Amino acid sequence: MTDLFGTAPRASGRRDHRVSVLVPVAVDAPYTYASDRALAPGTVVAVPLGTREVLGCVWDDPPDETIGHNRIREVSRIFDCPPIADDLRRFVDWVAAWTLGTRGMILRMVLRVPDALEPEPPIKAVRATGTAPERRTDARARVLEMMSDGMAWSKSGLATAAGVSPSVVDGLVAQGCLEAVLIPPSTAYAVPDPEARPPKLFDAQRHAADSLVTAVAADRFSVSLLDGVTGSGKTEVFLEAVAETVRRGRQSLILMPEISLTNVVIDRIERRFAARPAEWHSAVPPRQRARVWRGVAEGRVPIVVGARSALFLPFADLGLVIVDEEHDPAYKQEDRVSYHARDMAIVRGREGGFPVILSSATPSIESRVNADQGRYRRLHLPTRIAGSEMPEVTAIDMRRDGPEQGQWISPRLASAAERVLADGRQVLFFLNRRGYAPLTLCRTCGHRFVCPNCSTWLVDHRLRGRLECHHCGHSEKRPEACPECGDLDSLVACGPGVERIAEEVRARHPDSRILVLSSDLPGGSDRLRRELQLVADGGVDIIVGTQLVAKGHTFPNLALVGVVDADLGLANGDPRAAERTFQLLTQVTGRAGRTGGTGEGMLQTYAPEHPVIKALVSGDREAFYREEVAARRNAGLPPFGRLAAIVVSGPDKHEAESYARALARAAPRSDAVEVLGPAEAALAVLRGRYRFRLLARAPRSVDLQAYLRDWLAAGPRPRGALKCMVDVDPQSF
Ligand code: ADP
Ligand code: ZN
Repeated sequence: MTDLFGTAPRASGRRDHRVSVLVPVAVDAPYTYASDRALAPGTVVAVPLGTREVLGCVWDDPPDETIGHNRIREVSRIFDCPPIADDLRRFVDWVAAWTLGTRGMILRMVLRVPDALEPEPPIKAVRATGTAPERRTDARARVLEMMSDGMAWSKSGLATAAGVSPSVVDGLVAQGCLEAVLIPPSTAYAVPDPEARPPKLFDAQRHAADSLVTAVAADRFSVSLLDGVTGSGKTEVFLEAVAETVRRGRQSLILMPEISLTNVVIDRIERRFAARPAEWHSAVPPRQRARVWRGVAEGRVPIVVGARSALFLPFADLGLVIVDEEHDPAYKQEDRVSYHARDMAIVRGREGGFPVILSSATPSIESRVNADQGRYRRLHLPTRIAGSEMPEVTAIDMRRDGPEQGQWISPRLASAAERVLADGRQVLFFLNRRGYAPLTLCRTCGHRFVCPNCSTWLVDHRLRGRLECHHCGHSEKRPEACPECGDLDSLVACGPGVERIAEEVRARHPDSRILVLSSDLPGGSDRLRRELQLVADGGVDIIVGTQLVAKGHTFPNLALVGVVDADLGLANGDPRAAERTFQLLTQVTGRAGRTGGTGEGMLQTYAPEHPVIKALVSGDREAFYREEVAARRNAGLPPFGRLAAIVVSGPDKHEAESYARALARAAPRSDAVEVLGPAEAALAVLRGRYRFRLLARAPRSVDLQAYLRDWLAAGPRPRGALKCMVDVDPQSF
């Protein structure tokens, strides 16, 4: 057996105790092991599994007493870290049952950080002893001055703070004026001060904040929907709930849909509470993640700002979860275990008995319906904070008022932009499409560049000089000649992406400072942060951007948002298309005129009569929700009906399709559940795998998971390279 954790196998002592241990692999039931002492559920252990040693967690299921004494294997190690709390164990069970995943795979999301299982080493520091130095130089005096309050400092931190070289500090240690001490890592996290810098809230904000504070004080499960227009000051409001949670000595988690948004909130929390919260997402380096995991488990980290995976952190005493921008589709995870972080946050709150806050300027239809039916408390902020109006939104009918051939910006939008720039204010051109053009084709032979692994076109990324697939990452050099007919100069770019819009904007405004913002911006989150700051400081006149700029950020001088293609996303046949487009365009036009001054949004559209465009122009959000809710109810779509998809995939098309058909035939008969398909998935080929989809649809009262479990048990199992994946509540149909 290989021993991952560098410990000697335990000498076989008395093995009187049996424990059930859930291991982070694709199994649902815990395995039974022997241990020389009783282990409470939640204890983190290492156990042998086949020829490996894996992490595991003692689970609540009763151990198997029938395994013979000589066949049972022993727990090989017990970690000195706090146990996984009851509420998190129940949460793991629940998520597995809901998503039809295995409990082991859900536990894996909890135990992702093996380094964190070792206690954090104490920090080496120095402290003044009271002994005076032989010779009192200026530098030494500065150091001792800083140490006069008796606090311990790290050597390097002290040298930097005192503005001396590290050798000065070493000299004082050698003379016995400073002594080396070890301080426990607990002091490494700053304690937030809820009274540090309380904001002066406006009346509507105060009213909503009071309600949230009451929910926290009630100390039980509840859901509040903070529904406030863009710029209504929602962040300040929900931070009051965090303040109350801090006062009660409990932990808070704030979920953000995208990593790029975490910085903004972290900075605001630091200002409000005079302490920086911990950060948790895939871009945080492993060492720091381990420290956060451990600190969270030991209850030393009071506030975490993170991505959806933070829901699986082992909080010692979680007392509040906030889901910011709760409508955002990025909360749905679709690979491996597919779950919706907003819905799972609510389950986490229910299992832990604490309040959950959902915040959005454009709540999801699900949350609106839940609020209207009284399951959530709705807190409404209908206006922007003092002095700012909602932007004026108009539609430009591209059938009549479109641009000349080869251009994408209509004369009306162009002249509005000129007016705004002449006033010294900023313009944003929004197009939710990365790259230069979504399709490249040969004018001579009609050849289209498609991905070799997926059923999609390759996107022209001209800045990088490459054609790329946005689904599998395939990338190839843009050729000089058509690979099909060999013609030179026959390749044409079809349709615009942000890079192409930027080219047109540059030609129109050669003297303006233009910034292109999309996730292709090199330099990672630091660069993005600098660029956003540059925009906020007025160092940019025109921004051309994708959905990256649509959310979260405040650009004080932004006066006009021009949506280059408002119909993009409306035409794809997805029943959530209207909701999505309404949300995205409300968010992006809501960037204009957020702090004082006027704001304007212009939508270029070929369908000005579309209900989404009309709702955006009239600003009548309620009308949009009424219509959309009615449409969903009539069609029996979520939240009025339940849906689950089964996606079957495999490298061989015929094999995948016949497996999908066999599965469809195995569907149990039911009056309540309707099974549709198999049909080709929306992306029929992905990463070289052919995909077919089955859809199960039922009224809300039906236990769809139970039906799916029966179905999968009755159907053939996927063999060889075939895969079968369940997606409960799919986000697109
Ligand atoms: P939302 O999240 O609702 O779009 P924010 O919370 O980002 O709105 O607030 C918008 C802007 O108004 C921010 O710059 C914020 O600092 C400011 N703001 C919010 N509340 C107040 C307040 N009570 N007093 C002064 N400024 C405020
Ligand atoms: Zn691809």
